[in-house]
Amino acid sequence: MQITIISPDMYTYGAMLIGGVLRAAGHQVTLSKKIEAQGAKTVMLSLFSTQHLLRKDIKEFVKQHRNTGGNCYVGGAVSAYPEIVLGELPELNAVCIGEGEEAVCKLAAEESPLNISGLAFLGEDGKILCTPRAFPGGLSPRPLPLIPKDISKENIRGASVYIETHRGCTGTCTFCQVPRFFGHKIRSRSIEEVVAEVWAFKQKGAKKLSISGGTGSLFQYRDGQINEKAFIELLARMAEIMGRENISCPDIRVDCISEAILQAVRKYTIGWIFFGIESGSDRILQNMGKGINTAQIRKAVDTCRKHGLKVAGSFIVGYPGETQKDFEATLDLVAELSFDDAFISIAEPIPKTPLANLVLKTPKENNPVYMPHSGPYKKLGLSEAEARAFELLMHADMFKPELRMISDEVFASYLEAVRQDGENVKQATELLFKYRHTL
Ligand code: SF4
Repeated sequence: MQITIISPDMYTYGAMLIGGVLRAAGHQVTLSKKIEAQGAKTVMLSLFSTQHLLRKDIKEFVKQHRNTGGNCYVGGAVSAYPEIVLGELPELNAVCIGEGEEAVCKLAAEESPLNISGLAFLGEDGKILCTPRAFPGGLSPRPLPLIPKDISKENIRGASVYIETHRGCTGTCTFCQVPRFFGHKIRSRSIEEVVAEVWAFKQKGAKKLSISGGTGSLFQYRDGQINEKAFIELLARMAEIMGRENISCPDIRVDCISEAILQAVRKYTIGWIFFGIESGSDRILQNMGKGINTAQIRKAVDTCRKHGLKVAGSFIVGYPGETQKDFEATLDLVAELSFDDAFISIAEPIPKTPLANLVLKTPKENNPVYMPHSGPYKKLGLSEAEARAFELLMHADMFKPELRMISDEVFASYLEAVRQDGENVKQATELLFKYRHTL
């Protein structure tokens, strides 16, 4: 069968993986970033953001493709909340909930939806029917992903692709979908299979590779123990193929490092560590379920620096209940630790996460995403959450180890970025309220 997988705007690893699985099952598969069927009757949309469900071009495409007799399925991160997906895209044949490798092959073989695990679709009465989900299986062996010809042009946060090494996270962060989607138990791939995939990406022209999976160093985590040896071997073998200057390992928890891990990151990667720090307030860290505190953050950053690593931090502002005092604690921590880079986002309530439940219980007038800012940036017409994101961006720049000028251009780009982020989070929050009765 001819199948097109649409991965809007960027080739996600998940879309490539599903493409590889379908190709190995004998189908002729095209992977496209454009919202087009490319001549295929069956289209699978791999959607990873709530924003995709609001996009007019995607809504229009699904409607038209179904009206002309085509089949349309949705998978990816949004499948965790099929009620909203089917509410916004009611013409869909079905939503593949969670890990879709098995389900897509059965769908492509045109088996009855009732016989396929982990599907959600609208019944004749307009009510949502869900088939029971299968117990998630192991990750190896599996076929090579479908790597597009133009992979060399991809640049997703500095990498051509984020290779999946494991699924799941032991963390309990209230804003994060990873443990809810993949579970708390870590399931890892074999090193040989990951290495074979690295070769395949290199041969197809991928320039820079990164590791995905929540926290990189949880690769082959077993019995409550980090497997240093496996993680170090993974980095060493990836670097052997790609060169250390082309390997990065983002997203490590501050409590998932060790001297040996940091040495390996220094030796086999570009030499950066990316920590999800989120806040400088212990109260907010606790509310976020981060399972870490600011003392651990200080110690981890200090240890990284002793190993000669650059340290980037990601931060979340506008979490419900975040006070000015909490925010100031974040500003202070950023000034004290002088991060080499910082990524700031406004707390987005991904449906079915504990944060989403909290946002639903928080009156809008108390939610920083809606509260008008009345402080120093009042004239800019920002919400409190946007103003905090803006201030933290500039503050982080000011305290970077290397001096950076905040030109008019940088100022304008930060302002635009926080306005866009604020707007996206507002839209996601509105969607959440619209479907609150179904969640
Ligand atoms: S540690 Fe990272 S991946 Fe794990 S739950 Fe927290 S944010 Fe998500």
